[in-house]
Amino acid sequence: MCADNRVLTCEEAFARVPMGERVLLLPHCLRPSEDCPGKVTRDGLQCPQDCTHRGECAIGRLRDEAERLGYKGICVAPGGAMALRFVKETAPKGILAIACHKELLEGVQAVEEAPAEEKPVILTLPLLRDGCVDTLVDVDEALRRLKLGTE
Ligand code: SF4
Repeated sequence: MCADNRVLTCEEAFARVPMGERVLLLPHCLRPSEDCPGKVTRDGLQCPQDCTHRGECAIGRLRDEAERLGYKGICVAPGGAMALRFVKETAPKGILAIACHKELLEGVQAVEEAPAEEKPVILTLPLLRDGCVDTLVDVDEALRRLKLGTE
């Protein structure tokens, strides 16, 4: 994990990872709890193409941008166990992980246990507001991190 005082080093490392070797991990709790039409599957929350919130919902915006950039995968997970399974299955070289502090800490520790040659670069972004329902992320900052390396 890149500690805050090393964020530039971490960003530089992440920027060197090709788009097709990166994955985006998002927490399920960013969905609008009242009227999100997404369906939870074994691979995480799936957003219907015709979701009317897609242009304003943080998950929809970040998912669309990651797809446009050519990310290897996107997982909107209800918990760390699913996110870890996704990482194991996709074996990315770079991970942008957005979650609450607790989930980030646990997830990064778990990934750090991988053998050195398999360890991906992990760039994290903690939620602005956590609490498990209707959480909040700085979408502009998340978009900036998603695009690192394209400048
Ligand atoms: S874009 Fe947002 S509101 Fe729409 S299905 Fe996905 S998470 Fe739910």
